[in-house]
Amino acid sequence: MKIVRFKNDGKEYLGIMKDNQILSLTVLSPFIKCSIPQTLEELISLSPTVVNRIEEHLKNLGKDYKEAATYKVENVEILAPLTSPPKIICLGLNYYGHAAEQNAKIPDEPIIFMKPRTAITGPNKPIVKPNLVKKLDYEAELAIVIGKKGKNIPVEKAKEHIFGYTILNDVSARDIQFKDRQWTRGKSFDTFAPIGPCITTANQIVNPNNLRIRTWVNNELRQDSSTKNMVFNVYEIVHHLSKVMTLEPADIIATGTPAGVGVFMKPEPKFLKPSDKITIEIEGIGKLENFVIEEGSTY
Ligand code: MG
Repeated sequence: MKIVRFKNDGKEYLGIMKDNQILSLTVLSPFIKCSIPQTLEELISLSPTVVNRIEEHLKNLGKDYKEAATYKVENVEILAPLTSPPKIICLGLNYYGHAAEQNAKIPDEPIIFMKPRTAITGPNKPIVKPNLVKKLDYEAELAIVIGKKGKNIPVEKAKEHIFGYTILNDVSARDIQFKDRQWTRGKSFDTFAPIGPCITTANQIVNPNNLRIRTWVNNELRQDSSTKNMVFNVYEIVHHLSKVMTLEPADIIATGTPAGVGVFMKPEPKFLKPSDKITIEIEGIGKLENFVIEEGSTY
């Protein structure tokens, strides 16, 4: 299932997206004998089997019920799937190509940092360029959403702890990132973590370590790679991170970005400017689109 959070007529719902339609789980809740919580964070923490239960109930549900709970994607506002994950952990230098474009050594253990949840924004929402930032950049990343709490998770058990996958744009202020020589300030501004449009449940992604990942800025293809080019794959990442901190339901782990970010473009860097549109597509998940505005301006 591709689970989305969306808004219609001022109300928020959880739903399942298929092609250009959304089936509202919130509306169907009484008919599928499954109580649907308000947020995806709660749904994820309810039980690892909740997805199977919903899928099973939906199969047996009459067409009329489904039609009454169906919305067209273009008629609703798709929201960030998660707004208050316990943590957002990010990997640096996790693609061979991205390490090569900056002549960096391949790390022998994952390099990690964190973003605050206040940086989260949803699809089709603005990325606000702070006035003090001159070198704004994008980073397309596959994001793991944790389903089951765990510590010291072995690689072969990692899959059991993953609820699903989404897209995260690790928006970065390069001037601040390089000046500070660590990444917190440069990557933590409000709106610097667009996520969505959905969470694809893990049972729908046959191999998360072989997904095409692409980024366009105003229709110019900038990043075109595959998650098979990651230094540490999805399961190794869960294993390594869980040696450091307990992973909890709804934690987001951004797995690093491939080559092609603006700062390392040749012959010269190409940074984001107001009105630029950034589109990230990951196979099996969909497209995450955002646009840039200058701080203080309206859109
Ligand atoms: Mg990144």
